[in-house]
Amino acid sequence: MNHPPKITFAQMRASGAREILIYCRDHRCGHHVESDADGWPDDVRLSDIEPRFTCQRCGQRGAEIRPKFSEAPMGTG
Ligand SMILES: [Zn+2]
Repeated sequence: MNHPPKITFAQMRASGAREILIYCRDHRCGHHVESDADGWPDDVRLSDIEPRFTCQRCGQRGAEIRPKFSEAPMGTG
């Protein structure tokens, strides 16, 4: 497993990302959505808001949140 570092929205924005990707915690589901990150305060960590999300497809509580960079080194296909 390759966990990303726990960064804040301020750090994320400083690195160039403007949106977040919210992944369902159930990897068999694989559902994910994109969300605008502008509404979140600078001092909030991405991991802090993960428990707030519920998958709209399978109902799994919690999420995995990652920054969406405009130039990702690896695509998900
Ligand atoms: Zn799901």
